[in-house]
Amino acid sequence: MQALTQRAKPVDRRPMNWIEKIYLWNIFKGMLITFKHIFKKKVTIQYPEQKRPFSPVFRGLHILNRDEEGRERCTACGLCAVACPAEAITMEAAERLPNEENLYREEKYAARYEINMLRCIFCGLCEEACPKDAIYLSETFAPANYSRKSFIYSKNDLLIPDPKTQPEEFNIAKGLIEKKKISK
Ligand code: SF4
Ligand code: SF4
Repeated sequence: MQALTQRAKPVDRRPMNWIEKIYLWNIFKGMLITFKHIFKKKVTIQYPEQKRPFSPVFRGLHILNRDEEGRERCTACGLCAVACPAEAITMEAAERLPNEENLYREEKYAARYEINMLRCIFCGLCEEACPKDAIYLSETFAPANYSRKSFIYSKNDLLIPDPKTQPEEFNIAKGLIEKKKISK
């Protein structure tokens, strides 16, 4: 069979000589490699005390956005769910009542909105599909958890806090300051 690359090395099946049998030469070679790395710049970091900066194109946990008046932007049009290749988004729409103009920007809103983070591949297509700038992928990531159910994020988990009444929570959701403890 023709090899796709030139990287495969034939296996050496010669019988071992006496120096190979005592393995000292191989141990010495291994120690030499270790020794060479002592003086090189360390690539490991002390996480979580130290953190690497995110790439500018990093896509993390979803946030459901509010407008400048703190109203929910999502109008439950379903375009994000249709665009999602992993079928991770589900929602139920409801009509805004006359006294709810201060809560929802549009006449229709998402009464239920869920994202299954175990399905999500963080591709960002939901963000691109949204005509209302209502969903975006932030610079935080979904924390580890013990049960599968905990990875189904409800609207309460996703909705960004109101920047006027909860500025600290707003900054955490934006990834501007670190979340100290996440309990679900
Ligand atoms: S990031 Fe991609 S996979 Fe995840 S919910 Fe959005 S569209 Fe679906
Ligand atoms: S997040 Fe955007 S695309 Fe998805 S239902 Fe709401 S308004 Fe429509």
